[in-house]
Amino acid sequence: MQALVEKITQCNTLKDLEAVRIEIFGKKGVLAQEFAKMKSVPNEEKKAFAQELNRQKSQLTSLFDEKLEVLSKEAKEQTMREEAVDVTLYSPLKVSGALHPVNETMNRMIDYFVSMNFTIEDGPFIEDDFHNFEALNLPVYHPARDMQDTFFLNDGHLLRTHTSPVQIRTMLSQKPPIRMIAPGSVFRRDFDLTHTPMFHQIEGLVVEEGDGVSFSHLKFILEDFLRTMFGDVAVRFRPSFFPFTEPSTEVDISCIFCEGTGCRVCSHTGWLEILGAGMVDSNVFKAVGYENVSGYAFGLGIERIAMLLHQIPDLRSMFEGDLRLLEQFR
Ligand SMILES: [Zn+2]
Repeated sequence: MQALVEKITQCNTLKDLEAVRIEIFGKKGVLAQEFAKMKSVPNEEKKAFAQELNRQKSQLTSLFDEKLEVLSKEAKEQTMREEAVDVTLYSPLKVSGALHPVNETMNRMIDYFVSMNFTIEDGPFIEDDFHNFEALNLPVYHPARDMQDTFFLNDGHLLRTHTSPVQIRTMLSQKPPIRMIAPGSVFRRDFDLTHTPMFHQIEGLVVEEGDGVSFSHLKFILEDFLRTMFGDVAVRFRPSFFPFTEPSTEVDISCIFCEGTGCRVCSHTGWLEILGAGMVDSNVFKAVGYENVSGYAFGLGIERIAMLLHQIPDLRSMFEGDLRLLEQFR
């Protein structure tokens, strides 16, 4: 008996204890063998023999249970110690993504115009001649069509060269008042330091019945927008020409790198060209069947703004997917 008690108390692991369990309590264990001896015990001693054996059995059982509990607890604590996670430990694998500078810049622009109550309109990349050129006062023979090198598809369709066709689609499907922007991809056959075959524009259009929309409204919204994007800059309006607006203007801001004193980025002029705008040409309204309305439109390249804001010198690097560039925008 004392030897069995020692066997249990000397166990240090659950594995050892399991071996002891089989040895003592198993089918062919010590206790089973003792109970088997009952057969050869004289009848008058059987009761006392059985009582003594059961007493020993219950003593061993409670000792065993006690030991099992202690060892289980120890094993659990050891596992907890070994598998503990140090949540303060720096992990080099913990990387977070970031928006592409073009998307990030586009989102900032959209946020501004949505805050000024503009709606966001969308249109197809594959356009027809009417929506991309003709309705925008660019008839077939118009020399301004040469300004845009277009990707034509075999069936006479084309990849839109600007976001302006969305203006036409919106005016054809809605009645004034219209107050919309159209951000999105556009396509031209160009590839050099400042041109890529695909780039992004954001177009704006405001139309109201009567002559309520004036150039001063356009001037206010563009100045406010440019100062939201670039901070406290000077804004300059230069007369220009676009087929779909009359009068037309190109808008510059004072150079954000040299503050107007002249540097390489601004070609030593002190100004940066930012966007084109104007009052919607009456021929455009005619093409969509609008009468007695007034409105303004503007459009700008999103990459150009992103390049200025992040001082990226080569437009093509925006689309190479080079992680060394993109990781800087995290
Ligand atoms: Zn400059």
